[in-house]
Amino acid sequence: MTEEFPVLYVVATPIGNLGDVTQRAVEVLSSVKWIAAEDTRHSAPFLKRIGASARVFSLHAHNEEGAASRVLECLEKGESVALVSDAGTPAISDPGSRLVARVRAAGFRVVPLPGACAAIAAFSAAGFADARFLFYGFLPPKAKAREEALRSVSKIRCPLVFYEAPHRILDAVEAMAAVFGEERPLVLARELTKVFETIHACPLGEASAWLRADENRRRGEFVVLLGGAEMRVDLDESERVLRLLLDDGLPVRQAVKLAHAISGAGKKALYERALVFRDQESGI
Ligand code: SAM
Repeated sequence: MTEEFPVLYVVATPIGNLGDVTQRAVEVLSSVKWIAAEDTRHSAPFLKRIGASARVFSLHAHNEEGAASRVLECLEKGESVALVSDAGTPAISDPGSRLVARVRAAGFRVVPLPGACAAIAAFSAAGFADARFLFYGFLPPKAKAREEALRSVSKIRCPLVFYEAPHRILDAVEAMAAVFGEERPLVLARELTKVFETIHACPLGEASAWLRADENRRRGEFVVLLGGAEMRVDLDESERVLRLLLDDGLPVRQAVKLAHAISGAGKKALYERALVFRDQESGI
C-alpha cells in the first residue's frame, strides 16, 4: 500500500464525523514512521483511535519552515512522512502548502490522500446550478479589509465560498449584504457532518435576522456560500449599439450578433428590438 521510495503523504482527516476517515488514510497513517500534525495534542485522540503509532511532531503556520526541514531530513533518510491538519484537507485554509512546495522542489513525491473538505461538502449540498465556484477561504477579520476583499469579488459570476468563525459570522453576513445587495442567494452550512449540522438557504438580506433569532444558529463552524453576481445588462446601451449597427446598414442577423457580443444582452431580445426598429424605419 505504501510507496517503495520515501514520500510525503498529504492526508485528509474528518471535519467532525470520525466515520469520514478513509480506509487509505488509516492504512497510511498506521504505516508511516512520522506524522507532521498541525496540533499534536488535537490529533492525538484521532491517531490513537485509528491505531497509528507513528512519531508525531508539530507543523503549524508559525513553524512551517523549520518543520519542513525536519520532514526533508526524514525523507532523505528514506522515511516517509504523513501530513495532517486539525480537520479536513491540509493546505486548504490550513498549513501545508510551503511544506509541499519544499518537498517537491527537493525532488520527492507528494501523494495526496483525498477526503473531507468543508468547502466541497458544503458546495455539494448547497444546490447551486453552476459547475464552477470560487473558493475564497477566510476573509480578513478587520472591517475595512473585509469590505475591500468583498468588493474585489463582488462582480464574479460564479458562486463564492467562504470560511467563517462563529464569533464573526454575523458581522460577515452583514458586510456581505452591504456589498453584494440583499437579494443574492445565500447558503449557510454549519457544523457539517456533526450532530447539529444545519444547511440554511435564504436571500442574503435575511441572514442576519435568521442568525440573530437563535444564538445556537451562531455556534460552531461555518461555510458561507453566495450565488454569483448576475450579469447586469444596460438595455438602453445595448439598444443604442444595435441601432448604430443597423443604421450603418448591417443586416439584422449580423447586427444582433455584434450587439450581443458588445453588450452581453440576450440575442432573442435584441432580435425582437431589431425587428421593431426595422418596422419603424419602413413605417409599418
Ligand atoms: N482544511 C479544512 C478543510 O479542508 O475544510 C479547513 C480548515 S479551516 C482552518 C477551518 C474552517 O473550515 C472553519 O472555520 C470553518 O469555516 C470550516 N469548517 C471546518 N469544519 C467545518 C464543519 N464541520 N462545518 C462547517 N464548516 C467547517
